[in-house]
Amino acid sequence: MPTNPGNSERTVVCSVRQSQTENGKDELQSFQAYHRAYTPLAYPILFPKGTDGWSMSTKNIDDKPVTLTAYVRFHLMERLGSENYLHRAGKLYQQWITDEWARAEKQRLDFIRRNQLKLRANLYKCVRESTEDRNVESSGRMVVLPASYCGSDRWYHRGYKNAMALVQKYGKPTFFLTQTFDVNCPEVKAELKPGQSPYDRPDLLCRIFNLKRKALLDDITKRGIFGECIAYVSVVEFQKRGAPHSHNLIWIKDFEMTSQNIDNVISAEIPPPGDEGSDDRVFHDLVVKQMIHGPCGRHGNMRLGCVQEDGTCKRKYPWEFTPNTVIGEDNFPHYRRRSPEEGGNVAKKYVRGKGLIEIDNRLVVPYSPYLLKKYGCHINMEYCHTVVSVKYLFLYHFKGEVMVTVVEDRHKDGEIETYITRRYMCACQAYWRTAEFVTIEIKPSVLQLPLHLPEEQTVTYEATQSGARDALARNAKTMMSEYFEANKCPERGAAARLLKYEDFTDSFVWNAKDKRWNERQRGTQIGRMVSIHPGNGDIFYLRLLLKNKVGATSFQDLQTVDGEELPTFKAACVALELCEDDKQWYETMEEAVQISVPSVIRDLFCSILLNCQPTDPPGLLKEFSAAMSEDYARKRSEILNLTTEEIQSIVYNDLLIALNKLFEPHGNSNASFDIEMPDKDMAVNAIVDDTEYDPSAQDFFVENIELQIGNKEQSKIFNRVKRSVDSEVGDLI
Ligand SMILES: [Zn+2]
Repeated sequence: MPTNPGNSERTVVCSVRQSQTENGKDELQSFQAYHRAYTPLAYPILFPKGTDGWSMSTKNIDDKPVTLTAYVRFHLMERLGSENYLHRAGKLYQQWITDEWARAEKQRLDFIRRNQLKLRANLYKCVRESTEDRNVESSGRMVVLPASYCGSDRWYHRGYKNAMALVQKYGKPTFFLTQTFDVNCPEVKAELKPGQSPYDRPDLLCRIFNLKRKALLDDITKRGIFGECIAYVSVVEFQKRGAPHSHNLIWIKDFEMTSQNIDNVISAEIPPPGDEGSDDRVFHDLVVKQMIHGPCGRHGNMRLGCVQEDGTCKRKYPWEFTPNTVIGEDNFPHYRRRSPEEGGNVAKKYVRGKGLIEIDNRLVVPYSPYLLKKYGCHINMEYCHTVVSVKYLFLYHFKGEVMVTVVEDRHKDGEIETYITRRYMCACQAYWRTAEFVTIEIKPSVLQLPLHLPEEQTVTYEATQSGARDALARNAKTMMSEYFEANKCPERGAAARLLKYEDFTDSFVWNAKDKRWNERQRGTQIGRMVSIHPGNGDIFYLRLLLKNKVGATSFQDLQTVDGEELPTFKAACVALELCEDDKQWYETMEEAVQISVPSVIRDLFCSILLNCQPTDPPGLLKEFSAAMSEDYARKRSEILNLTTEEIQSIVYNDLLIALNKLFEPHGNSNASFDIEMPDKDMAVNAIVDDTEYDPSAQDFFVENIELQIGNKEQSKIFNRVKRSVDSEVGDLI
């Protein structure tokens, strides 16, 4: 069973008895991952009789084909009266289940790979042109790992954008809630066989966690324990060791942010111990067991992940004592944490190497007493105070844009390979995916509304003449063209003409089969117009018109102002005064600030300056400099021991460096747009204190050092090191 590092393919190879090849060697037969003999050959201990495993021709009792995941699920169920020996195989079971999922995934990816060679996406216009000139086979861009593939970069990215659409619609969420899973909880213990550890049963862990997760969401969304829940996002993740946990964002209707209301739902205190055996004692023990941070740092465990170099805690534990919940600057809540003198409770907790340590309210992770009592596992619940914090939470949990930009640099064809080499799969995750439990849940659902210029909608087609023709017929109708139709329609028009394209889902439902907007009978859905980069020209202005106009009946209608049809969408925007005083650029930036990370906002700012000639670049910079340098401000505030003003000026300088760097490849600099040039001295000083910094600033540092080195010897050494680094050849100096 050769496992070739660097190549994710794993095959089973057998030597065929008494059979030799022409040059006298034993004949080898390899078994592909889909072969029915693969599983028994790879896991002889689990299948000692050589029982066939799953293959493409496996059928169920109704003679219907069975998928590999369904087959695995079937074999993992417990049945009355017979013991499932797979559950008894310990680590081998974990490996087997992960391997089976890898096979299932391989099958799906192979399908995508095979079909992407034939299925190509292209712009509608190009397809039409290629049927005319009979060149279909060579036209078309390759689509590789689509957004529908769970776990792909596009899938994460879409999840992030959809979740941010909820923020745009409802504002910031009310609560952020993390539900973890205690693998030693009574429900798991009751089901374990003698001698089993919880990690021997990933199937059990996943099923119990999924039930708890659903029950908790039902409490919040259906039973409304915190008030009427209007929207939520729930994301399931897996730690490297395997146990699942979920992050949830909850929007509560009209939640009033007062100390009283917060105290009603969130506590950050140790409850009174009560009498031995009482409910109070159980609750007290639960908080001490599940909801105490650390203790970390010098007074506790130095090896915890939250301990920084200087011994302090990244999460700011221990917090200060606070006699009452106060709402601080920026709506930040300081939960009530009473000191022992003020009547706060204390408890003892065991720390390895230090023995029993006394702990007080400063170390309590905020929790919901109701949920903690009911579910008995670590459930951290906090009030969300700003939209900015949500953006980072989403970004972190969707692993969104940061990863996507990495992929963007690579060759498009390599997306499947990139996915395979980067994925990390543990047994729990393998079972979770095999069982098809949800990984991201967003309610209300979000519908992406595509945009396209006349006859330029995206079309997926099979690369043959008839394939292209069918696709043309199928895609002539789009959400946009049907939006125009609905506005024209005598029955639906009255309601439709009140709505912008973006808000169309408020009263209409898209029927994908009939390609038609029908009037909504029940439920809610949020529409999200795809974002368009200003560098894309006219389609950017088309979006701007749709954002501002209701009841458009055609592309021509959108382009018509005061009875006159203008030549472009841009001209129509100008005539409607949508572009006055850089208004559209402020709006574009504003939208980006809501949903994107600083590096993306900086990129956008530079493209606006480079491509769109705004009248007042310094004004635009002034308005958005804080949003564009949030990441620098975070890093700087952690590292330097300076006053707020000093930090601000360093951060601003960091931003100027980054912008200048972005303009350079286009032959421009900050000065080309009346923006000040960065202060080189400050950059050099600041970066010396900083080890893990933005590479663009490092480059700036290196370039400047190069100029400043006066001493001949120094510059000789410097140049030699630099040459060796630049040429990527090792060197002994
Ligand atoms: Zn800590």
